[in-house]
Amino acid sequence: MKVASIIVDVLAKGTDRPFDYIIPQSLEDIVVKGMRVIVPFGPRKIQGFVINIKESSDVARLKEIDEMVDLQPVLTEELLSLGKWLTEETLCYAMSAFQAMLPAAMKAKYDKEISLPSEEVKQQLHESVRPLFSKGSIRFSDVKNHPAAPYLLKDISKNFLDVTYIVKNRVNKKMMRGVMLSSSMKQEDIEKYRDGLGKKGEKQKVVLQYMLAQKEKMSVKHLKDELGITDAPIKSLISKGFLEKIEIELYRNPFAEREFQKTSALPLTEEQSKVIKPIHTSIEEDKHNVFLLYGVTGSGKTEVYLQSIQRVLEKGEEAIVLVPEISLTPQMVTRFKGRFGSKVAVLHSGLSAGEKYDEWRKIQRGEVSVVVGARSAIFAPFKNLGIIIIDEEHESSYKQEENPRYHARDVAIYRGKYHNCPVVLGSATPTLESFARGSKGNYRLLTLSKRMNNAQMPGVEKVDMREELRNGNRSMFSTVLFEKMKDRLAKGEQIVLMLNKRGHSSFIMCRDCGFVPTCPHCEISLTYHRHQNLMKCHYCGHQEQLAIKCPECESDHIRYFGTGTQKVEEELTKVIPEASVVRMDVDTTSRKGSHEKLLAKFESGQAQILLGTQMIAKGLDFENVTLVGVLSADTMLHLPDFRASEKTFQLLTQVSGRAGRHSLPGEVVIQTYTPEHYSIDLASHHDYDAFYKKEMIMRKMLKYPPFYYLALVTVAHENMAVAMGETDKIASFLQNKLSSNAIILGAVPSPIAKIKDRYRYQCMIKYRNEPDLFSSLHFLLEQYKGKMQKQNLTINVDLNPYVMM
Ligand code: ADP
Ligand code: ZN
Ligand code: ZN
Repeated sequence: MKVASIIVDVLAKGTDRPFDYIIPQSLEDIVVKGMRVIVPFGPRKIQGFVINIKESSDVARLKEIDEMVDLQPVLTEELLSLGKWLTEETLCYAMSAFQAMLPAAMKAKYDKEISLPSEEVKQQLHESVRPLFSKGSIRFSDVKNHPAAPYLLKDISKNFLDVTYIVKNRVNKKMMRGVMLSSSMKQEDIEKYRDGLGKKGEKQKVVLQYMLAQKEKMSVKHLKDELGITDAPIKSLISKGFLEKIEIELYRNPFAEREFQKTSALPLTEEQSKVIKPIHTSIEEDKHNVFLLYGVTGSGKTEVYLQSIQRVLEKGEEAIVLVPEISLTPQMVTRFKGRFGSKVAVLHSGLSAGEKYDEWRKIQRGEVSVVVGARSAIFAPFKNLGIIIIDEEHESSYKQEENPRYHARDVAIYRGKYHNCPVVLGSATPTLESFARGSKGNYRLLTLSKRMNNAQMPGVEKVDMREELRNGNRSMFSTVLFEKMKDRLAKGEQIVLMLNKRGHSSFIMCRDCGFVPTCPHCEISLTYHRHQNLMKCHYCGHQEQLAIKCPECESDHIRYFGTGTQKVEEELTKVIPEASVVRMDVDTTSRKGSHEKLLAKFESGQAQILLGTQMIAKGLDFENVTLVGVLSADTMLHLPDFRASEKTFQLLTQVSGRAGRHSLPGEVVIQTYTPEHYSIDLASHHDYDAFYKKEMIMRKMLKYPPFYYLALVTVAHENMAVAMGETDKIASFLQNKLSSNAIILGAVPSPIAKIKDRYRYQCMIKYRNEPDLFSSLHFLLEQYKGKMQKQNLTINVDLNPYVMM
């Protein structure tokens, strides 16, 4: 007898362990670790992952595996062990860890099968329901829109009918008609037939000629397009047995219409050669190392990535490249596709579930050897990884903010160790954590200090907006910025304007008493939507009419404050009517492919000003951009987050890096209400090293990373006293378990004290070395599992949190 240990698809504390099932004899040699199967679980049929196969089980009465989902394992040995590691490191369920590694399209969907327990029962059913069962049992999904559906539900609730859960069919691969050369016929015979074909068989001859030359499966469509023929000659070759009919899996190719111009390796600069050497050595010697590639914007980091990958491919190994939300930087895709062509798969959030699945299949089948993608691409099922690169390693999007709360950097290092290959973290503004490791030698620090062609870093001018106001300038553009824009437009050069904010959103404030309307459910400022003239909450969607009078002081000087990109665009067209503007924010880029279109419009010079939110700060490289304006540098400084200064510094440095990357020198204007703040001041001098030193002193003083580790426990409940009380209990429990060196803060209300009518309390743990922390947190979650379900209490544990709210 063979037994499979299976992690089942039920996300709950009690089921977060392997269950044993008998492998039926017919499947004995087929079921292997890493495959998904369907198993009976209570009254239901659910999906599960086989994580182990053994000869016997300690459990007395085992059920059998029902059927298989996969014919090949979807998780490799490595990914199975990575999953285990994730459950320990992030305190998540094994099932969430596995699901995070696979494309969403592969997540099981369930349907209900409804059947009559006996013929007699039929009489008790509603009359409109009876005919549904004329052919036996039914699937709920098939009848859910049927007029009788409501009666059916009633009959189910009266327990007249049997309901079983079944796993619905998964992703459908797109298949198309194809042909191949007959496998039973000798090639000579086929050739003989071909040579004997005369004028009448011309078309058949062409087809055979092509198939013999290509020696591959071909889709019928491809043959017709390529050879300019109809179905007829193909059909007749099939009927004569020279060709065999087959089905070919068709990949949805999101980049199909685009041509990528082939590029080849550039001769490296001296600095580039110096930093690439240790990476190449690491690749050649199969040694795991973490490199921190600290290179100013425009210093040629990407070329270093490309030529490192080149070496990996020559060795017959594979590469993962993570970039922040790749749909935002089509330029990056172009650079990888241009160098490595069809060897590259792209995984990002802009793809449909089916497209993502297709890209993943190419990796699984070994059809590509480079994957460029956002965070989850770190789980690409490669078997011979030769390098992992994380570009813009400081980006907070590399941390997943839902379970499993992993950081892609940690997963990269885990996989790098497993495969004995280098991990390269690149950034112009590394996180303090990484730079500290680089300085101490835990990571190998590689520096690119010069821009390409020795281009100068752009000159940066800070403008004090309070001063502007005092001088009577009420516009959102300072005099300096306005004049520089006029100047660039006259010269035919281009401008990037960044507004550190979303859409047309802004908050409402009473100018007389300072009152700001907030959401009654979430306690965050409501956002003004001019379009609908409404105030909305961005967390829960609550909306209300615009206040005409201040509810506090009855003043009618209550109006919106701050600006959105749409507002800036309107103002721009007013003050500089001759300029054409491309606006990029969540609203203009929500449709698929819109990013690329907007950027292409700017790149081609059809627009002179690119106006946008944070999303334009990253990775864009336009030759003609000579002026970058930051309209509001401070917005992020005031977030309740200990990384606020770091994030501000990073953003300003990134966006400044967009200017003067090529032959034309660039300039940056930063408008701010707090010009004296060190992160704004040092960003304006491109002085990362000074910022790092200053910020490290602050972090040390305040006991934050990288000097201390953090863990954040957030508790939510509809009753404030319960939320607070439970958080208090957790805090004192941890106080008892941990050493006196650990600092436990809280219970305190979370910065967002309420979301969707649930109160949120948190407790933060700052620690350096607490071997008992993980087991204590595990124990805690175990203790709470009953309460969490019964009382609708939620407890979230975030180790190394990036979002402090
Ligand atoms: P970073 O990623 O560090 O911001 P990039 O890789 O975008 O910098 O490089 C900036 C520009 O310099 C790009 O246009 C790139 O094509 C060019 N470049 C990079 N390396 C070389 C090289 N060795 N020779 C010539 N041009 C280069
Ligand atoms: Zn007021
Ligand atoms: Zn709300």
